[in-house]
Amino acid sequence: MASPQHITVLGATGSIGVNTLDVISQHPDKYRVFALTAHRQHELLYQQCLQFHPRYAVLEDAQLAQQLQQQLREAGTATEVLAGAQALVDVACHAEVDTVMAAIVGAAGLPPTLAAADAGKKILLANKESLVMAGQLFMDAVKASGSVLLPIDSEHNAMFQCLPAHFSHGLSRCGVTRILLTGSGGPFRTWSAEQIRAATPAQACAHPNWSMGQKISVDSASLMNKGLELIEACWLFDTQPAAIDVVIHPQSIIHSMVQYADGSTLAQMGNPDMRTPIAYGLSWPARISAGVADLNPFDVLRLDFERPDEVRFPCLRLAREAFAAGKTAAAVLNAANEVAVAAFLAGRIGFMDIARINEEVLQRADLVEPTDIAAVLHADQQARELAGQLL
Ligand code: NAD
Ligand code: MG
Repeated sequence: MASPQHITVLGATGSIGVNTLDVISQHPDKYRVFALTAHRQHELLYQQCLQFHPRYAVLEDAQLAQQLQQQLREAGTATEVLAGAQALVDVACHAEVDTVMAAIVGAAGLPPTLAAADAGKKILLANKESLVMAGQLFMDAVKASGSVLLPIDSEHNAMFQCLPAHFSHGLSRCGVTRILLTGSGGPFRTWSAEQIRAATPAQACAHPNWSMGQKISVDSASLMNKGLELIEACWLFDTQPAAIDVVIHPQSIIHSMVQYADGSTLAQMGNPDMRTPIAYGLSWPARISAGVADLNPFDVLRLDFERPDEVRFPCLRLAREAFAAGKTAAAVLNAANEVAVAAFLAGRIGFMDIARINEEVLQRADLVEPTDIAAVLHADQQARELAGQLL
């Protein structure tokens, strides 16, 4: 039998991290947890360490890390606790790691995920922000190191499943004509502009079909998530926004589709549960059980499709514009959006202010050619400052 894969889970305490550990726990013969990381949720990380016995655990804060180390020692566990951003990089590219689940939310995920790409690890990419911020650098790193990059975002995982194995030689050369990127439309799909303007954080986070972290839930409500996913798809599959249609599909049963020159449209379907794409990433190209119930076609009453409304949801248009502008525009948009979403969640701004701030920062920021990660992080920082001034 093959030896188990050693896995680092970046962002282990989040929605994707918890789902990843759920799948891993179903296959103890196949996967070993090498490291688990979290921002500040030391209590959940402690429980996870007791269950999975990782070699390392990482927290951002040195004092919390020390406290966790003490607790784990008292529990008789050998896990070593590290702290800080460099520790995230270290556990992502450690020589004994085979696979990195990149599930930190936001720009904080970029440095360790890029480090994993440089180190030639198999990367299970949930942190779409890495590709949005540094698409070219990231894909170059993957190519140079021979890293295997598998999308975990459900739509991109669906596309990956519907594309031919040799798609990296160019989509049109393997007969692909279009990609249909589906999205539920979020909780405000049927709301009027007036109602959306008055939306509260609780309403924005109440996603109709998926249970996710707060930031991506707000992004789903504004369609910024679909915009980030459009950019993500362009980098992953080496294509352009013009070859991708965003299709609103409220039932979230089809997770995306790929169309071919012969008139075929392939769709990947399933119940909306992130353990399906996570399991596929872990076991690719094989298939393993994920704990997800089969789709019962008799329970699916209907499949609806709509065009996205970029007037009520301007963030989708902004993502298109940022990708077209190139340079550091997408990193700038991502950073502005992170600041605006955090301010919205804190009750400091209204829902439509997110799009306003994103647009203004995108217009005002100086764009440069991102030749290295330092340039990307600099653009990210400047955009955060600009966004902060506009709150
Ligand atoms: P989440 O908020 O539930 O969890 C985020 C994780 O990252 C937590 O473990 C947290 O401790 C850690 N983290 C947050 N800030 C950090 C920082 N500054 N430094 C280090 N660690 C930090 O988020 P999530 O919903 O699990 O999403 C994670 C990523 O996966 C995001 O990029 C999101 O877009 C993507 N994604 C999520 C889903 C989903 O269903 N949740 C689906 C597709 C893609
Ligand atoms: Mg998605």
